[in-house]
Parts: sequence; structure tokens; C-alpha cells
Amino acid sequence: MTRIPTYDDVAAAARRLQGQAHKTPVFTSRTADTQLGAQLYFKCENFQRMGAFKFRGGFNALSCFTTEQRKRGVLAFSSGNHAQAVALSARILGIPAAILMPQDAPALKVAATRGYGAEVILYDRYKEDREALGRKLAGERGMTLVPPYDHPDVIAGQGTSAKELFEEVGELDHLFVCVGGGGLISGCALAARALSPKCKVWGVEPAAGNDVQQSFAAGKRVKIEVPRTIADGAQTQSPGEITFEVIRSNVDGIFTATDEQLVECMKFYAERMKMIVEPTGCLSLAGAKASGLDLKGARVGIVISGGNIDLPRFAELVG
Ligand SMILES: *Cc1c(COP(=O)(O)O)cnc(C)c1O
Repeated sequence: MTRIPTYDDVAAAARRLQGQAHKTPVFTSRTADTQLGAQLYFKCENFQRMGAFKFRGGFNALSCFTTEQRKRGVLAFSSGNHAQAVALSARILGIPAAILMPQDAPALKVAATRGYGAEVILYDRYKEDREALGRKLAGERGMTLVPPYDHPDVIAGQGTSAKELFEEVGELDHLFVCVGGGGLISGCALAARALSPKCKVWGVEPAAGNDVQQSFAAGKRVKIEVPRTIADGAQTQSPGEITFEVIRSNVDGIFTATDEQLVECMKFYAERMKMIVEPTGCLSLAGAKASGLDLKGARVGIVISGGNIDLPRFAELVG
């Protein structure tokens, strides 16, 4: 069994990220507080470097490489924020990077990844299995594969966002976190257990793809079809092996949000808080609203995971 990360790993990640990751702002909104009858604290990872929390995990994982690993380089497969996180971290640390991306990935994302100096290898997502291809390429080139969530150093890095939140605002009653493969919530839950032990930690998934909710209920990892949702950062089919272990013992429950509820939150963030938040980043607030939990008078943390969305797509969704 792979190593399960602890809060000490999160604290060590925070030291590695010092001066590299932004300490993202925590915002409040009277309007949101009134709607929920609670005091909300928004941890804004949409203002993290490269636009999402994934820089934290990527940079931490690459910082833990041995000299030999650094020389040979890193390989990642992703069409989204993890690709850019690994590419940027590799550039900062002087590590060669190759990123496997689907041929039909948005040109903008391919360009951004190349812009960070990474070699982009395109594959046909309908014909080739990216995990098999990734493993083959990594093997041939001696590169280290860094997965987007199911890795102790990635999880520890992601947890530094909640660590910063608790250190800034103190203990909370509830914390809502967006969930894809579960890396972010795993790290955040480890931070919560150490820094705010009574805080309930809730994950939020797209209603169209509740693999973690099903797994949580079943007590074992459940695999689903690729969910159709606008939350493209949370289209995972099952939780990771490590993330599921951490979630099972440190998370209180999983809620879901529909695409309509996500769009409503995108509008709210844009109109009232003057922020562009990508659909996946809206899961936490949408889930808090849809949870049915009595949040009256509670101190509630909302982790906004990222803000990367093309403007035309943003306009199409909120227009
Ligand atoms: C990757 C990602 C998620 C999901 O994170 P996991 O660690 O896979 O649960 C949520 N929001 C954004 C913006 C992401 O990029």
C-alpha cells in the first residue's frame, strides 16, 4: 500500500511553497452571508499562480524529486489545470517536462502549457489509453509520472490552501471543498483535523458524476461513466486509492450540485464579488447552498478551487 499523507506532510509542503505559491486572499460577502445566515470565508484559489490550487500540489511533488529524478524529468497527463501546474513548477525548478494532452484539447491550453516550456505530446483520446501511454513514455524516457491527485506529495501540497485559511481566520464549523479525484479535499481535511478539529469537512461533486459520494456510501471505490457536466475539473470516474482512504477517515460527507446551480454561483461570483470562477470552482458554494444543512450562525469556509475558463465560454454560460 502506498504511503498515506499526514498533516506533517502538509506542513512540510507549506515550507516548500513559501515564496513560490501565492498566499491567496480570503474574501467575505455580506450578500452571501445573508443568503445562508452564516459567516462565510471564501479561500480564493482562482487567484493562485496559473489560476488554480493545482500549482500547490504540482510544485510540492516536483520539489520532492531526487537529483536523479530532476535530471530525467517529469511526465504528466492532463488536459486541464494539472498540466499547467506541472509545466510551470518544472520551469521554476529547472526540470524537463513532457505533458500528454488529447489532440482535441483547447488550443489555448496547449499553448499555455507550451508557453511554460513543457514539451506537449498529443494523443488520440478515442483510440489511445492515456494512462498506458503515459506509463510507456515515462518508462522509455526514465521520467517520473506525477498524477493529478492520487499521490501523497500532491495531496500534501493541496492541503496548504486550507492550512492558510485556518491560520488566517481561525477555527471553522464547516468547510466545503470542490471534489474531482479528491486530492484537494484530502489535503484540506488533513489540515482541518489538525488546525480546527471540530470543523465538519464536506466535499461537493457534480450531480452528474457522484463517484466519490457513491464510494463514500459503499465503503469502497466505485467507478462510474465519464460524467457529462460543465464542471470539467471534476469529470473523474472514481476516487483515487490514497484519496479515498483519506476521505473515508477524515471527511464528514459528500454533497452534489447541478450544472444550473453552478451557473448561478458563477453569476453570483461575477456580479457580487467581481471574480471569474470556473464551473468546477463553484461546486463548494453551490453545495453549501444545496446541502440543506442548518448553517445558521455558523462559521463556514468555502474553497474556490480555480478560475480558468475561456471568456467566450464564460459568456456563453452566464449570458
Ligand atoms: C483539479 C480541480 C478540481 C478537483 O480537484 P481534485 O484534487 O481532483 O479533487 C477542482 N477544481 C479545479 C479548478 C481543478 O482544477
